Amino acid sequence: MSFIIAVDGGSGTGKGTVTRYIADKLNLDTIDTGALYRCVTLQALNNNISLEDKNKLKEIVANMEVDLKIVNNKQVVILNGGDVSIEIRTPRVTSKVSIVASIPEVRYEMVKIQRKIAQGKNIIMEGRDIGTAVFPDADVKVFLECSAEERAKRRVRQNAENGINTSYEDVLKSIKERDNRDSTREVNPLRKADDAIVIKTDGFTAEEGGKAVYQVVKNELEKKGLI
Ligand code: C5P
Repeated sequence: MSFIIAVDGGSGTGKGTVTRYIADKLNLDTIDTGALYRCVTLQALNNNISLEDKNKLKEIVANMEVDLKIVNNKQVVILNGGDVSIEIRTPRVTSKVSIVASIPEVRYEMVKIQRKIAQGKNIIMEGRDIGTAVFPDADVKVFLECSAEERAKRRVRQNAENGINTSYEDVLKSIKERDNRDSTREVNPLRKADDAIVIKTDGFTAEEGGKAVYQVVKNELEKKGLI
């Protein structure tokens, strides 16, 4: 029997760290759906496609080949054969991704792809709408929360580790903008599912956050007899 764990929350709430921690402990497949939206955005920008050209964007989603893997606890993203792990996190892509993600045609296609990838697997999927739209029947739903200021600090540190130089003020502004766009869009906005467990990650180190959420998820899976 396969099961699905949905991890949702705003940018920088710790979804990636928590997801990788749990996947490692429980030997699960992971899908970072944000990386998929970032790949469409990158491809559109690289090919000078207008972000208003809904049909072209939908075509990119339907035809792109993305391989997501974890290497040395880091996410590696291969888009159409090339490693774009760093490029998809640059401000050029980050500043446009929530515009692309607000287009209904893009989202419908993306949800189809995400459901297909998960078929028959024990999977932990992170994003904004996993527990509400992609898998409303997910076995465990977690919704992470954290103040925008702490999230900005984390993101600046993470970017620096990836060789991307960003200022705290710019990152904070971008996080607030994206939160706003993500939670006010018409189709599948960022929203806590009614049956999601809310966990606040303020003040946690990556390790502490991972452990805390892992305990909650493990208890839920045990209660349901899934592990
Ligand atoms: O998680 P990450 O910050 O990489 O996500 C990038 C963007 O992709 C988000 O700001 C959001 O606009 C979009 N996204 C989404 N739905 C998801 C995952 C990400 O709209 N399930």
